[in-house]
Amino acid sequence: MTRSDDELTELAKSLGDRADLDPTDWSAFRRQSHAILDDMIDYIETIRGRPVWTKTPDDIRAGFNNATLPVHANDLSAVHAEFMTTILPYTIGNTHPRFMGWVHGGGNAVGMIGEMVAAAINANLGGRDHAPIEVEQQVVRWFAEAFGLPATTTGLLLTGSSIANFIAVHIARVASIGPDLRRKGISGHPLVGYAATTAHSCVPKAFDMAGMGSESLRLIPVNAAGRMDVGALARAIDHDLHTGHRPFLVVASAGTVDCGAIDDLPSIARLCREKDLWFHVDGAFGALGMLSPTLRPLLAGLERADSVAFDFHKWGQIPYDAGCILVRDGDAHKRAFATEAAYLRREERGLAGGALWPCDLGPDLSRGFRALKVWYTLKVLGTERLAAAIERTCDLARYLAKRVDLAPELERMTPTSLNIVCFRYRFSADIDHQNAELAADIQESGVAVVSTSKIGGQMVLRCAIVNHRSRVEDMDDVVDIALTLGRRREALSS
Ligand SMILES: *Cc1c(COP(=O)(O)O)cnc(C)c1O
Repeated sequence: MTRSDDELTELAKSLGDRADLDPTDWSAFRRQSHAILDDMIDYIETIRGRPVWTKTPDDIRAGFNNATLPVHANDLSAVHAEFMTTILPYTIGNTHPRFMGWVHGGGNAVGMIGEMVAAAINANLGGRDHAPIEVEQQVVRWFAEAFGLPATTTGLLLTGSSIANFIAVHIARVASIGPDLRRKGISGHPLVGYAATTAHSCVPKAFDMAGMGSESLRLIPVNAAGRMDVGALARAIDHDLHTGHRPFLVVASAGTVDCGAIDDLPSIARLCREKDLWFHVDGAFGALGMLSPTLRPLLAGLERADSVAFDFHKWGQIPYDAGCILVRDGDAHKRAFATEAAYLRREERGLAGGALWPCDLGPDLSRGFRALKVWYTLKVLGTERLAAAIERTCDLARYLAKRVDLAPELERMTPTSLNIVCFRYRFSADIDHQNAELAADIQESGVAVVSTSKIGGQMVLRCAIVNHRSRVEDMDDVVDIALTLGRRREALSS
């Protein structure tokens, strides 16, 4: 043996056997993991019998705040036991059939499995030649088709519609100014965009994050049905054109968070075509109504969008997070994000090949396999069942609206066009404050979760029926608890 062979042997010996992070006892790991999976299936199966929300107790909160970074190994079962007692009972509650706060999806058991499987293969969907990219592109293609968008459409799965709307703003401004914008920035370009006053708060925030300032988003008034006033939109565009601004984008809503209103998409599409503006639709929850034959007509015009932002994690019942951006002109999409960094130069063959690299379509390089939980859910449940669940939430909202209308103490505050019902208790004094307190009373009761919103400056209780598990009895329960706690609050204050 030469001297260097000896050295090599010594070095190998000193490196030891293993330092990997895999279980040392696979059969023990398997047993423990199966028990954890059973716990989570039990949890979903029995969700209806639990309180919707329980405030995190002070001692549990303190436990999180005081714990230090774990340095030494712990047993998986022990850590899971801690999860079961300190985390599981204190979640938001959106898996529960009487959760109607904000616009939250209920998730689904098949999606949970998809999430687990995705974690096992730990794919990175920034690019390269592997099947997971094909799965994501298949999901994108399925929904482009479902929305009536052409074959040129590209898209990406994202965290949610907030980032999807932001990405759309960037694509639209690069399309308007040209790729120079990416090198030279926006100064000297007085870009302005338009959305209704009822647009989601992430839309002005997108303008803010894009460096244009939220005031460069003009907020257009809505009519009595909560839809953008298209005449006012046309006047605003003309005014900006005459005063040296550069209109580039209209963001229409397909399902507003306050009352589920869908803007007049065909008229806005026509106006955008006429004025050469990018037509973006924020369809965060509403766009998936396209899966339902009864709701599809309400969304007419969506197929004319230049881009659509929507979420699988709301009406689509996919576990968080799963949003999506679709862009009609795939080249415009790439022009806004593709870079030619040398270390990523695409190869003709081998793993570094691949036709489409999702990192060319958005800000992320490393990207998880969100598409897999969508794919499992769609293939196992089918869009028919999903669409039926979506339609059911609208039917339940109509029932809830009727129950509200029949209760003399309650007053309905919006028309109910999709799945959202806003109402308030007719307190004899201090009505805004008392309704806000009533929402908290209901949340703290554990019976239901409703949220609040301001409609025409007035505080309302908002019930968004998004969860596929909700039933008629849950609508009755939410009205009953609002009446019981409302009467109690009224009696105490008078
Ligand atoms: C939820 C929602 C958003 C924001 O989407 P996230 O997925 O929460 O980021 C934007 N617009 C509308 C209409 C929404 O309902």
